[in-house]
Amino acid sequence: MIYQNHSRRLMKKLLLFAFLFVTLMSLRAQQSPAGLPEFAIDRSQVESQLRYLASDELKGRRTGSEGNNIAAKYIADRLQELGYTSPEGADQYFQKIPFVAKRPPKTGSLKLGDLTFTQGKDLIMLDGVEKTLETIAVFAGYGWVDETSGRDDYKGLNVEGKVVIVLSGKPESSDPSDVFNAMGTKRKLAAERGAAALVEVYTLSYPWQFFSRYFGRERIEPGEVNQDEMLYAWIQGADKKAIADLRAGHPVQAEFTSGASNNQNMASQNVIGVLEGSDPELKEEYMLLTAHYDHVGTGKQGGGAYGPRDSIFNGARDNAMGVVALLTAAEALAKDPPKRSVIILAVTAEEIGLLGSQYYADHPLIPLEKTIFNINTDGAGFNITDGVALIGWNRTGTDKWVEMGLNPFGLEVIPEPAREQNLFDRSDNVSFARKGVPCLTFSPGFREFDRELMQYYHQVTDEADSMDFDYVLKFCRAFAYTSRLIADSDIRPMWVKGDKYEAAGKMLYQQK
Ligand SMILES: [Zn+2]
Repeated sequence: MIYQNHSRRLMKKLLLFAFLFVTLMSLRAQQSPAGLPEFAIDRSQVESQLRYLASDELKGRRTGSEGNNIAAKYIADRLQELGYTSPEGADQYFQKIPFVAKRPPKTGSLKLGDLTFTQGKDLIMLDGVEKTLETIAVFAGYGWVDETSGRDDYKGLNVEGKVVIVLSGKPESSDPSDVFNAMGTKRKLAAERGAAALVEVYTLSYPWQFFSRYFGRERIEPGEVNQDEMLYAWIQGADKKAIADLRAGHPVQAEFTSGASNNQNMASQNVIGVLEGSDPELKEEYMLLTAHYDHVGTGKQGGGAYGPRDSIFNGARDNAMGVVALLTAAEALAKDPPKRSVIILAVTAEEIGLLGSQYYADHPLIPLEKTIFNINTDGAGFNITDGVALIGWNRTGTDKWVEMGLNPFGLEVIPEPAREQNLFDRSDNVSFARKGVPCLTFSPGFREFDRELMQYYHQVTDEADSMDFDYVLKFCRAFAYTSRLIADSDIRPMWVKGDKYEAAGKMLYQQK
């Protein structure tokens, strides 16, 4: 009896075991990723989307140009077709951004005491109207005011009608991007106080020529045409006696002559669509997917070599490819929505300083504290077709999902390519990182900016015809699948301990 009983129990156990085994196997089959829509992203679709965005008709998609607007409309139409909603604050999927196309004055000269600065040599005019000022110059530190820290470089200073001389950059940072970002604020602070001119004394470690060449040509800046008539210039010569006198608090006689700027308002736009998540709770959290759709334009605008045979910088790799990855992911995720909601954001003005992503980060249409992660995709090009370069590797606790996302496509992780370039802080993802949102950039396979890569990077040769579409397809599928894995994950990504953006993340999400 006992024996029989035992064997019956054993039999029961075996049956239960077999039942569990079958159940588990069928569950596994259901969860097998191969049935997910991203595994069915179609090669011909990838190719046709990319060929359209990188076509000559779109003329290099330069911010504010007709080709840029056509690309934006194409992306918006696609999001609408896929059932994405246009969030509040956007107009038919467009987030409009005001820009100014600036052509600075061609002439200018500034006399401080008996020292003369001349345009093109040690002076660079950034803005002005045709006039000559005869007044005095005063020194105002960095020309910076910060209410939180109590700093006020204008305290006790009357600058009305005067030439205000300041040091370049911000008091606590000489990081070039901070220096450039501070320019608008410094200018506004001076104008509000009635200054007749603002002059920044160059103190950056970059060669002056680099700076003056960049700011001397036509460029695009966020904002609108300034109505104030304040002259604005940079000078080189921090070591000169007149500057030392000024810094010691002695005003100096100034004569400032300027030519006229030719500035024009123009507009561009980010394109945004939102997909609701499938989980009743997690849908309150948003996964942000981004790619820039602008490029550098045609001819002289492009910055690279061009000729009569080809003067269009098509930007197939940079970044039509990323936009296609974004749009195909948008489609795959819409067909089978992940737990969290998804924001698809195609940004403009990356090539002129990450301005589109920065604008969104400053004016988010979905609160940033609900935005749990950003995967950006962008690239200069690729020369490795069995890998994806990950910028931001090992920083947000998402590595295992990225590996899982690449694995089915035979792609391996290439962590942090071209380290010396500090790409993390030079890609659109950084606009979100600065606000605390954990992020990474998915980049086509490369390790270094070598000759093979530079052959296409910002060149007229960056065309669809020279691309390996088998690789582009794998890249798109892996981008979509990785996005899904993170949008579905139980654990929210967060900056690893000690990361430079960890504090911003804690502040954004109100963590201790
Ligand atoms: Zn790019």
